[in-house]
Amino acid sequence: MDSHASAGPQTVAPLLKGQKALVTGANSGIGKATALALGRAGADVVVNYVAGREAAEEVVAQITAQGSRAAAYEADVSREDQVTAMVDRMVEEFGTIDILVANAGLQRDAAFTEMTLAQWQKVIDVNLTGQFLCAREATKEFLRRGVVPEVSRSAGKIICMSSVHQIIPWAGHVNYASSKGGVLMMMETLAQELASKKIRVNAVAPGAIRTPINTDAWDTPAAEQDLLKLIPYGRVGEPEDIAHAAVALASDLLDYVVGATLYVDGGMTLFPGFATGG
Ligand code: NAD
Repeated sequence: MDSHASAGPQTVAPLLKGQKALVTGANSGIGKATALALGRAGADVVVNYVAGREAAEEVVAQITAQGSRAAAYEADVSREDQVTAMVDRMVEEFGTIDILVANAGLQRDAAFTEMTLAQWQKVIDVNLTGQFLCAREATKEFLRRGVVPEVSRSAGKIICMSSVHQIIPWAGHVNYASSKGGVLMMMETLAQELASKKIRVNAVAPGAIRTPINTDAWDTPAAEQDLLKLIPYGRVGEPEDIAHAAVALASDLLDYVVGATLYVDGGMTLFPGFATGG
């Protein structure tokens, strides 16, 4: 067996030792995989959820079994009072916050003229305003604490969960694409504003990942074949593909990466239609 054969999650084991991470929407899909990966990398993890306490407690149990500390906190990321209370509680119970993965998100799809204001507003509130609120509260604590060199070279890391739709227009999803376009500019502006305070803000932009948010796109062979036409690398992504990118961005290995979007999309943003045309 060569050394790569055993290179699994263990390879990230010591990277985040002593760090405290908050992952929003961490009881499902990408957020769950990210919380577990952060735990494997040595971080203590707050598992945020808005509904589904049992699933959140299951993630907590898995992280605890891996040897890190974890707790499930209920909060709606689009509600200012709940986000403030969540971060305050984390500082009280875990001591501080070093890493925020602003992951919570949803879709409310509709053709443009059918889209209600409520559908538009809900997606903007959760996907964009939710990230703003979580980032703001985490940043207050990063600034209060400052850099602790034994823990990390930076005072804090924010990872915004964006999407390839921060740059790829998406018919029938104007609310979602607009929210992710907003995340791109919010992330870059915060990165510019906070870099001198030693806070690193970056984004992960997933392509098509196998999670409950997009079941219709991959849950039949025909749907999956259709989807694969958009993915040069020839496979649908798994939540762990995104989780590992988030762990890397949170770690000091990528300490000089500031204001970047890491596309984790099997090449979806490479204009695959031009591989044979154009
Ligand atoms: P998911 O539905 O499995 O997970 C979304 C999570 O967000 C759930 O835990 C949900 O409860 C939580 N959430 C929703 N509203 C919330 C609120 N108000 N407060 C707190 N939590 C809330 O879907 P996923 O695919 O894991 O999505 C995670 C993130 O990844 C989202 O931001 C999504 O836009 C992004 N993303 C996913 C894909 C993909 O292909 N799956 C692609 C690009 C981007």
